[in-house]
Amino acid sequence: MIVDERIVTAIFFFLGLIIGSFLNVCIYRLPRGESVVITPSHCPACGSRIGARDLFPLLSYLWLKGRCRACGKRISPQYPLVELLTGLLFASAYAHTGLTALLLKQLFLVAVLIVVSFIDLKYLIIPDRIIVFSLACGILLNLFAGDLSLLSAVLGLSAAAAFLLIPALVYRGGMGGGDIKLAALIGFFLGWPNGLLAVFLSCLLGAVTGITLVLTGLKGRKDAIPFGPYLALGTLPAMFFGDKLLAWYLGLF
Ligand SMILES: [Zn+2]
Repeated sequence: MIVDERIVTAIFFFLGLIIGSFLNVCIYRLPRGESVVITPSHCPACGSRIGARDLFPLLSYLWLKGRCRACGKRISPQYPLVELLTGLLFASAYAHTGLTALLLKQLFLVAVLIVVSFIDLKYLIIPDRIIVFSLACGILLNLFAGDLSLLSAVLGLSAAAAFLLIPALVYRGGMGGGDIKLAALIGFFLGWPNGLLAVFLSCLLGAVTGITLVLTGLKGRKDAIPFGPYLALGTLPAMFFGDKLLAWYLGLF
């Protein structure tokens, strides 16, 4: 049976929307040390339970016009944004990688990066429990996907962590411990040399944005800028196009 690729891509988009609404729960609850599985969803403002009819990703936000049904308080646009972003990235990952074991690993990493980025943007922290949990899953996912050897994964982890560790030691306090642990996790998922490429691209992106923000006066030189989202943004091209990017780069010489 031949299934239209566009239908499968759309299915992954909708799967992403659903997973995205779970990621919103993680973003809200993990920094508070709350469970992400047992308790049902509540409105953060009034605490009233959110009914099944209002739990549709994206659409609920639109038909409630961005307000809680019970108390009328504004619902943060972060909710539909995370859902949409997850949907688009899941569809892109399928379109790029196809229905393979590697896809599962990529979808998992995408989900982790979204959660970590939004927590870092809001609280300037990257919770250890997310890194530890993801690393444990990474060991299994690397075996399942079979795309890299254990040596490559460990080398990727070490190189990515070292790449951030050196400036952190030299400048002291510039780069947080959470950032280094996240870089290590990304390195473990992408292996050598793509893990290093991911962190390199993140630093490049972070430096360009940081310099722009300081030059335009939007941020002071001492203001803390969360680095987690940059690590996430640098990881996507390295994960999907790392081999092509490296081949092009090495071809310059
Ligand atoms: Zn409410």
